[in-house]
Amino acid sequence: MSIAENLAHLHDQILAACARANRNPADVALMAVSKMHPVDLLLEAHAAGQRLFGENRVQEWQGKSEIAGTLEDLDMHLIGPLQSNKSTRAAELFHSIDTVDSLKLAQRLNAAAGALGKKLPIYIEVKLSPEESKHGLAPADLPALIEALPSLTHLRPTGLMTVPPWPADIAQAGDEARPYFRELRRLRDQSQRTIPTLTGLSIGMSNDFAAAIEEGSTCIRIGTAIFGKRAPASA
Ligand SMILES: *Cc1c(COP(=O)(O)O)cnc(C)c1O
Repeated sequence: MSIAENLAHLHDQILAACARANRNPADVALMAVSKMHPVDLLLEAHAAGQRLFGENRVQEWQGKSEIAGTLEDLDMHLIGPLQSNKSTRAAELFHSIDTVDSLKLAQRLNAAAGALGKKLPIYIEVKLSPEESKHGLAPADLPALIEALPSLTHLRPTGLMTVPPWPADIAQAGDEARPYFRELRRLRDQSQRTIPTLTGLSIGMSNDFAAAIEEGSTCIRIGTAIFGKRAPASA
């Protein structure tokens, strides 16, 4: 199947999940996760109409951006962990940083966005999974970050993001992920009382996006179902 066909198929599945959940499909964005794929595939997705993308490494996107950085209406989000010493570069290269996991990183990004004269959208990544490999802010530390964000005036807090544990049974990935999706939604509702713009819920990947939409996702992050399998990570 071509990338255009995969995207069309996903749009159908999004419509079906929204119908089941009684939701407006306009409230669910489809992010194409192009990490670890050649830039040609990103260009192909863009030619098929896709505008919202996710990459997980600053350096990888820096390389690809030489070819794809000026694509029309591109909306490129960072969805991988960000070390604060790379925050200036990240603020320059990305339209949104979806993995803010500390006050220190938020402060660095705020300073970088200020220097660039831009308002930088961010999501806070919350670590709900006990897995070592998962990233994000501990839920207990979320209220303090939420209290601090309004004073960081060069950031636009958009929502919360999480990655649930890897499922024990891929066929049940959606149902295994639901408790994590629900918990993130609860934290989003709570945070929104302090920051009204914090409406986003970035949840759902290739194996569990239908369940994520049913649980209130406003942005599903899809790699494999659009671009196929990624080459195994070398680092
Ligand atoms: C790789 C990645 C995705 C996409 O995963 P697929 O299972 O290939 O759809 C989504 N979110 C994050 C944070 C990722 O790192």
